[in-house]
Amino acid sequence: MSPIDPTPADPNTRDALLTVRGLHKRFGDNEVLRGIDLTLHRGEVVVLIGPSGSGKTTVLRALNGLETPDAGTIVVAGGPDIDFAPAQPESRRARAQKRLALRDRSAMVFQHHNLFPHLSVLENVIEGPWRVQGRPKAEVVAEARTLLARVGLEDKENARPHELSGGQQQRVGIVRALALRPDLLLFDEPTSALDPELVGEVLLVIKELADEGWSMVVVTHELSFAREAADRVLFMDAGAVVEEGPPAEIFAAPTHERTKRFLTRIL
Ligand code: ADP
Repeated sequence: MSPIDPTPADPNTRDALLTVRGLHKRFGDNEVLRGIDLTLHRGEVVVLIGPSGSGKTTVLRALNGLETPDAGTIVVAGGPDIDFAPAQPESRRARAQKRLALRDRSAMVFQHHNLFPHLSVLENVIEGPWRVQGRPKAEVVAEARTLLARVGLEDKENARPHELSGGQQQRVGIVRALALRPDLLLFDEPTSALDPELVGEVLLVIKELADEGWSMVVVTHELSFAREAADRVLFMDAGAVVEEGPPAEIFAAPTHERTKRFLTRIL
């Protein structure tokens, strides 16, 4: 079990942790998100699949406050309804505050681990909870050590990122996200930059977190992971969710032609 208390799945209440409605985003002429709806219940694992350029990363970035949608609402339970196209025009500051409100609730694991190269593993992990969240250093260090041990990196706290394998670096990236004590974990193709032999160790850690009840949205091309770990798979194409359902249904009997074509290509 995690030393940090995740939000456990409660099959009786199945309350929504995350509600996304009508998310739109355009970069210049490129309409990247065309009205995304997404609900994530506590303890649920949703996997986003779809062709490159279909908008999956943009959805994650919007959830993490790294991208400002042009329209739509995002609600994380217990927080405000964040409406990206309010009736009244808003100041830049008000928009920035919305992004920050989202950033506090989730933590993202990136394709490239994005660790600070000049900091040790331990310093990388404590940076957010200690310097940004302002929690007591001793508490944060103790928690970081426990988390590093649970992903098998207890002897690496003084190493610099370049001294680690890609899989170890990505496990530090996951620990860094957990150390923020987020409600929601976001994974953006966490294994796609890894050598094939290192993919398994990272997927295993993510699978264990899923089994422990962490709520997560995962963008991945690893369909075997989606099959094993996802409660629901969403297939995205051209900025829209084309089809969604339990992995057994989506993979065995996709109903939409675009999903069928994608799965035939990738399997
Ligand atoms: P996916 O994750 O499914 O590959 P992305 O969300 O990364 O898709 O990208 C969707 C589309 O948005 C792509 O056409 C991409 O080029 C474009 N895009 C993403 N970020 C930016 C940006 N910051 N500026 C301009 N275009 C962008």
